[in-house]
Amino acid sequence: MTVVQRPVIHHEVIVVGAGPAGSACAQKLAECGLDVLVLERRKIIGNPAQCGECIPNWGEVVQTFSNIENDEWLQQYFDFPQWLQLHRLDFMRVFLPSGKSYGFELDAFAGHRLHFDGYLAEKAIKAGAKIQIDTAVINMIHQSSKNRDILITKDAKYSFDYLVDASGSLAHMMRLKHGKNPQFRPGDQVPTAYAQVHGDVPETFDVFIGSVAPSGYAWIIPKGPNFANVGIGARAGKLRHPVKKHLLDFCADLKLEILSIGGGWIPMGGPVPTMVSGNILAIGDAAGLVMPSNGGGISQAIISGYFAAQSIQEHILHNTPLESYQKKVEDSMGRALKNSLRTKNMGYTFLRGDVMTELVLRTLGPIGGIKRAMECDKPLFLL
Ligand SMILES: Cc1cc2nc3c(=O)[nH]c(=O)nc-3n(C[C@H](O)[C@H](O)[C@H](O)COP(=O)(O)OP(=O)(O)OC[C@H]3O[C@@H](n4cnc5c(N)ncnc54)[C@H](O)[C@@H]3O)c2cc1C
Repeated sequence: MTVVQRPVIHHEVIVVGAGPAGSACAQKLAECGLDVLVLERRKIIGNPAQCGECIPNWGEVVQTFSNIENDEWLQQYFDFPQWLQLHRLDFMRVFLPSGKSYGFELDAFAGHRLHFDGYLAEKAIKAGAKIQIDTAVINMIHQSSKNRDILITKDAKYSFDYLVDASGSLAHMMRLKHGKNPQFRPGDQVPTAYAQVHGDVPETFDVFIGSVAPSGYAWIIPKGPNFANVGIGARAGKLRHPVKKHLLDFCADLKLEILSIGGGWIPMGGPVPTMVSGNILAIGDAAGLVMPSNGGGISQAIISGYFAAQSIQEHILHNTPLESYQKKVEDSMGRALKNSLRTKNMGYTFLRGDVMTELVLRTLGPIGGIKRAMECDKPLFLL
């Protein structure tokens, strides 16, 4: 029997994953004139959503992160068309176990991730990137004779000058390269369940803290009249039942009709210690860039994708070390991510049981501590 050897297909850059991180990165790389291929395992980009679907506007982004307010590329990127914006989210209410709430303004909108991710992918394609759907990367092998890594999919083999891991919270490329090494793996994976619901929903982005979601929170994010994305994320091991059952009970209490249901992991352990390994760069959730205190990750995914593309181009043009990518991430997002991680850890320590949670939040609420914690600032001025 003859074994047919498949040829190895080469691209300058391969991006694995067509979420917000992968599409932003691919667009910027293609605009720089690089040959970029995105491999995406889903048949339909953005589906299923695995998200609360609260998408930040530029105003929210610049308020959270440093050194980017004058970046025209990012500013334009965050100028999302009206048709994506189903419902303006300009107010958030945080509910304590007693039902008391504290509210504050925000600058975001609710959308469908199916539309949003599809729109971002289209922009990458228009810029010149190729996106191949229904193509999961299932293995990475090292070819010693040529001292290079090869990606394996069901139908083909790929080599690359640069590989971008945009595969989401489980960082599949870094896992294939480094196994369970915590230097490269996003930690504290929080299980979540969410549902698209129909019923009497609020106008505001509502968050519920307490036994409804121990060491986490439940959310209602309105997507338009009578429709919302409702979900729960709680620290692994803290729930008495599977997270999906808690979500079903939560929706039943609120008399909301469930139209569809899903789940996913949010990496809440903060940024991975090492985002660059040789010619591989981790971006978005794969680099652990979700805000540990609120679970938001879309803006960091886009910004990190852009930074990674910039660093690849600078490496090609000026031989600047690829590690400049991690420095850019830390310089702009490091402070907010650090505050957010500290807030989450304080929450794990102090928000235990409804009585204690009520007491702590009633202390923080009137002095703006809940607002600052949700906005990834220090919940207390000094801590
Ligand atoms: C339930 C839930 C609610 C959330 N709510 C919000 C919110 O309201 N607002 C917010 O800002 N953030 C929210 N987040 C976080 C947000 O969804 C992520 O931070 C964001 O999607 C990260 O983008 P990404 O491109 O890094 O990864 P992803 O969006 O996860 O994209 C990764 C892509 O890689 C693909 N992929 C994975 N493995 C492979 C492989 N082996 N081969 C090929 N392709 C592969 C996947 O199919 C996917 O398309 C939420 C997360 C969850 C789970």
